[in-house]
Amino acid sequence: MQTDVVIIGAGPAGCSASIYLSQFGIPHIVVEKDVYPRDKVCGDALSGKVINQLKKLKPEWVSELKEFSEAFTPSWGVVFSAPDGNDIAIPFKHKPSEAEHSPGFISKRIDYDNWLFQKLDTNYATVLQNTEVRDVEIQTNGVTVTCASTTIKAKLVISAEGTRALVAKKYGGYEMERQHHCAGLRAYYDGVTDLHPEGFIELHFVKESLPGYFWIFPLPNGQANVGIGMLSKYVSKNKVNLKKLMLEVIESPKFKERFKNATLQSKILGWGLPLGSKKNRPISGERFLLVGDAASVIDPFTGEGIGNAMFTGKWAAEQARDSLASGDFGRATLEQYDKTVYKKIGGELRVSAVMQRLIKYPWLFNWMIRKIKRNPELRETITFMFDDVDLRKKFTSPMFYLRVLFK
Ligand SMILES: Cc1cc2nc3c(=O)[nH]c(=O)nc-3n(C[C@H](O)[C@H](O)[C@H](O)COP(=O)(O)OP(=O)(O)OC[C@H]3O[C@@H](n4cnc5c(N)ncnc54)[C@H](O)[C@@H]3O)c2cc1C
Repeated sequence: MQTDVVIIGAGPAGCSASIYLSQFGIPHIVVEKDVYPRDKVCGDALSGKVINQLKKLKPEWVSELKEFSEAFTPSWGVVFSAPDGNDIAIPFKHKPSEAEHSPGFISKRIDYDNWLFQKLDTNYATVLQNTEVRDVEIQTNGVTVTCASTTIKAKLVISAEGTRALVAKKYGGYEMERQHHCAGLRAYYDGVTDLHPEGFIELHFVKESLPGYFWIFPLPNGQANVGIGMLSKYVSKNKVNLKKLMLEVIESPKFKERFKNATLQSKILGWGLPLGSKKNRPISGERFLLVGDAASVIDPFTGEGIGNAMFTGKWAAEQARDSLASGDFGRATLEQYDKTVYKKIGGELRVSAVMQRLIKYPWLFNWMIRKIKRNPELRETITFMFDDVDLRKKFTSPMFYLRVLFK
């Protein structure tokens, strides 16, 4: 097979790249090893970033999520709990009554990814499912992608294979770096009580889970996504048994009552989160672009990766369009993609990396939560930040922290 661009992987990063390439009228092939609908271990929280991205693609798509209530729970805020047990609930919206839809949603990835996958435009995208890429060869005159049943020749490859991506390892020099990697577990439960009526997600920085957090995210039909995440460096150094730890947190006095009648509906599954805490890691090279988890752009503090996967998919499609127009797929030209990515999200990744390092100081977290709890103005500021994605940039300003300190 022959095409302009080949995308490996049809997760949120690959689908976003494909949808944008189709909008630019560029023919391409998407190769996916699984068959949709397929599962993906995740917390299943679709942040404001994802919703804004969908809105930019087609505003009607967000209305579809709103209507599709069997698969999508609207989420209006977040509950944080500190190691000393103090909780704080922060709405995502300043004036929820004026909102057309909730700022975030929670949806099992088997549903969300399948919904997004159905949006691929087959006028431009040739989609091969059940087709695992076995090897990628990049030469100066083109790319050869070898699958079990076919070989594809292309001008450019977009690697959207998720964690442990073949192209990232072979051509991007990627290795597992435990200080930039998190281990996560996910389980589905029925019957967890006291879930927030407005779908607030819950991030619990309880002392057992530090340096990491335990989460409970409400899903449709009374289910909940329950999980735990911790920096891999710490897991391996201290030989942490994450599954045992998660079950201990569930049995701890803070949660025991809420899980009294809860039943586990799935296996407890684990997967890695390649974090964006390494500064300006190269994410392109001659004839290749890495997107999503393949590019390690997960927020190091929150573990949120779907939004950045979709954004990098968009920027990669734009770079592909420009390179196809100029016929230049060299390393120096494709590096423009790295510059775009780090200009747009480098600042927030750095702030999150600092916050992630601070998690190991429980007193600091306790102090911060108590301060926010006491100060409605500060709570309001944080709500505004969730409300408007651009305001998040304030997190990168030292002035913000000075104001927090002295408010
Ligand atoms: C425990 C856990 C909790 C998380 N919670 C959240 C959360 O609540 N919110 C959030 O935003 N993010 C969360 N994340 C991160 C999020 O899951 C990822 O950032 C996101 O899935 C990245 O999307 P992607 O398209 O890059 O990769 P993926 O979603 O992994 O998609 C990659 C695709 O490539 C395919 N593929 C792989 N290899 C090949 C091959 N050789 N040939 C063909 N196809 C291939 C795979 O089958 C897959 O479909 C979590 C992650 C974990 C592990």
